[in-house]
Amino acid sequence: MARIIVVDDDPLAGELTLTLLQDAGHEVTLIGDSTAALDAINSRLPDLVILDILMPGIDGLTLCHRIKHAPATQAVRVVMVSGKSFAADRKRATDYGADAFIEKPYDVDGFSQKIAGLLGAAPAAAPQAAPAAAPLDKFRLTVWGCRSLSAVQGAPPSRYGRRTSCVALEKDELLLVLDAGSGLVPLGRSLVESGRWREPWLLITHFHQDHFEGLGRFAPAYADGYKLNIGGANDPDQSLQERVQRAFEIAPPELGSVQAELELYEMMEQTYEIAPGLQVSSFFANHPGTTLGFIVESEGRKVVYCPDSEIYGEQGTAMQDYDERLVRLAGGADIFIHDARYLDPDYQLRKNNGHSSWLNTVELAARAEVKRLVLFHHDDAYGDDVLDRIETEARAHVAGKGYALEATMAREGLTLAC
Ligand SMILES: [Zn+2]
Repeated sequence: MARIIVVDDDPLAGELTLTLLQDAGHEVTLIGDSTAALDAINSRLPDLVILDILMPGIDGLTLCHRIKHAPATQAVRVVMVSGKSFAADRKRATDYGADAFIEKPYDVDGFSQKIAGLLGAAPAAAPQAAPAAAPLDKFRLTVWGCRSLSAVQGAPPSRYGRRTSCVALEKDELLLVLDAGSGLVPLGRSLVESGRWREPWLLITHFHQDHFEGLGRFAPAYADGYKLNIGGANDPDQSLQERVQRAFEIAPPELGSVQAELELYEMMEQTYEIAPGLQVSSFFANHPGTTLGFIVESEGRKVVYCPDSEIYGEQGTAMQDYDERLVRLAGGADIFIHDARYLDPDYQLRKNNGHSSWLNTVELAARAEVKRLVLFHHDDAYGDDVLDRIETEARAHVAGKGYALEATMAREGLTLAC
């Protein structure tokens, strides 16, 4: 008899697994809420854990990686189960240290035999980290859109670009796309042309038009052989699923029907390990509606993306502790991309709209000791003369105060590495 914990958010599948294992004589606990699973595994130290890959809260791959990388739980055998049978998913499960992968629905006899075999075998070794001598892979960041609203017809051309929020972050073979504003459209075309990045991640801060209007025109969605991992928060009135579905429903019909596999991740204020050693943490930003900011970390590098966020600055009241929180969250970031939409006098007229003055943003970035600040989410009404002035003034302010900080205005085509 072995002690087994089954983590599955689908009650039917979970009960079936439970019954099969109990019939085979094991002591089985079923956990439906993945966020409670790690505590249970740590305290009970079972012989084997069965994890569904796709679950709200913490997904199975993240749980698997945590179990296999913590000394206390390394020896626990992990079986991943999934309704999907793609080779890529199997490979990911193996990369994360899983001992076995079983497809749903189960072949009942095969399932029991596989579990019995596994309980008799030695646990798989955790995947080895890259050798220390290997050069550190860097994040490479490209801005595809940084405006607050799409250009109205007849707006003058801008050296900063007119497309709305979209930033691509590459790390090894992983592509993370932060927001799906209209900058996503040319990014999508370049992805299809390159043939690389077949499984990009799209992380959406919120569903205001300037952060989401590009999704329906994202070329990889209509091409063969793509899988789009889309993460974002559920709004109280509309789920992530409904938002995504709607974006494709209203897309121009000439694009055809969606070919890509879509995998949705309902994100909360939490940390997710989306690839071995690469963490994404989401936090709530000070902006109307449910709005996330993202912290992406890997191998000691940290990129923070928070495009729509109001910093209170000196005029904040004791009740407004957002600034303090953001200083902690952004602390030590290599690259901090933050809302700096307004000239300070304009901000004074537009308080409590959910956007910041560049001055408050520079001050906060200095307190958080970030290395490079990218001033982001430019007001659509500002011409290049105003945007040039913001950069000049921000740099003069940094120099005048003696901050160890580099301030850069976002512009389409800007690339940075860290
Ligand atoms: Zn917004």
